[in-house]
Amino acid sequence: MYEPVIGLEVHLHLKTRSKMFCSCAAEYFGDAPNTHTCPICLGLPGVLPTINRQAVEYGIMFALALNCRVAEWTQFHRKNYYYPDLPKNYQISQYDRPLGTNGWIEVGGERVRIKRVHLEEDAGKSTHPAGADYSLIDLNRTGAPLIEMVTEPDLTSPEQARRFLNHIRSIAQTLGISDANPEEGKMRADVNVSVRPKGQELGTKVEIKNLNSFRSVQRALEYEIKRQTRILKGGGAVKPATLGWDEAAGRTYLMRTKEAEADYRYFPEPDLPPLRITREWLEQVRARMPELPARKMARYIQAGVRPYDAEILAYSPSLSAFFDRALETGVEAQKLANWLNADVAGYLNERGLEIHQTGLTPEHLARLVRLVEAGTITGRVAKQLLPEVMEGADPERLVEERGLKAVTDETALRTLVEEVIAANPQAVASIRSGKLQAINALLGQVMRKTRGTAPPEVVRRLLAQALEVDA
Ligand SMILES: [Zn+2]
Repeated sequence: MYEPVIGLEVHLHLKTRSKMFCSCAAEYFGDAPNTHTCPICLGLPGVLPTINRQAVEYGIMFALALNCRVAEWTQFHRKNYYYPDLPKNYQISQYDRPLGTNGWIEVGGERVRIKRVHLEEDAGKSTHPAGADYSLIDLNRTGAPLIEMVTEPDLTSPEQARRFLNHIRSIAQTLGISDANPEEGKMRADVNVSVRPKGQELGTKVEIKNLNSFRSVQRALEYEIKRQTRILKGGGAVKPATLGWDEAAGRTYLMRTKEAEADYRYFPEPDLPPLRITREWLEQVRARMPELPARKMARYIQAGVRPYDAEILAYSPSLSAFFDRALETGVEAQKLANWLNADVAGYLNERGLEIHQTGLTPEHLARLVRLVEAGTITGRVAKQLLPEVMEGADPERLVEERGLKAVTDETALRTLVEEVIAANPQAVASIRSGKLQAINALLGQVMRKTRGTAPPEVVRRLLAQALEVDA
């Protein structure tokens, strides 16, 4: 048996007004190329960078949210390398004194350790137009503030990696420090993966880059784990490398063999003094942090929600905000969670919407749940009404206007049951001969006649009584 060992490196774009070390706007998405630059982010000779205080505070918040130890003093280093979209020839990053170290978060009850969290600046963007013999360079992103977060190799499956990223996105969005959407490149993940015979020494790892969605991360990992397992089973050796992911073809490809750390010639940034983070400052920042998803999840479990549902809700900023408001109506928490995570989630996924983009209000959903719980309407009717309720309709009004209250008058139901029995002699014969599941066809017919307003368990009982069978 072989098992994968996975580590992640995540970059998050910070939602500050200005860039990491200059006053250019940090928000450039969709703007004309090279319109957000200045001598500092262009790296012209003689300029001096200054540290963005907001970026540091966002970094502290993120490190605290990941249960990291925040350094009392930290420092920026130059990481030297040449890329056409990095005009300075170095990136200001952090090296042996990162902002945060030794953290962890829990994913599905398992702890994933966070090795480090540090601040750095982004490089620009190169575009290679298809068929052209030139490349285009946009330096709007150059110098944009980034958080880099690195995990220990604690992840054990592609699915867990995807959930981990979802948690990180949720934490960043809850803190309001980053939009963290991979579509706009505001959250990027690189993965390290190796495969080993179960329980043995770590195998040779490869790094996969250019993963622009959580789904790509999961697919690339699944592909790479299969590839490495095949090599190992065949008696071969995995070569260390940096791979890219071809989303369309669904496979990894070789980008380059890996640089060693020494190639970057790290040294302390001479233009920036070490940064002291006093404990007073740290506590001021901590006091401004909102309730984090892990705390929300614990609160939901306390309110009676199953851990599985509590995790889904707590780690979705939009669903948890909705859930919290709906809970205030006093409706049973698990019942509400069932609706949100099943029927409402299905509706949203189908249409690619977030809950706040629909007309659904917490009050209406709570009312719908209550109508079912009180036996006023059947679950079937509630499901039929959901699309309209999602568009803003009041469920109580719909029930009233259309006469959809559950039929509780058994005499009326018994008449319908007898009609259906009389009209289906064949089905009746097979039920009487022992094929009891044929009763479902009759049940369906009665339900249709009542437009779903009959409680199915009552109809089933009445059918069984009329046919004199046990069902
Ligand atoms: Zn600038």
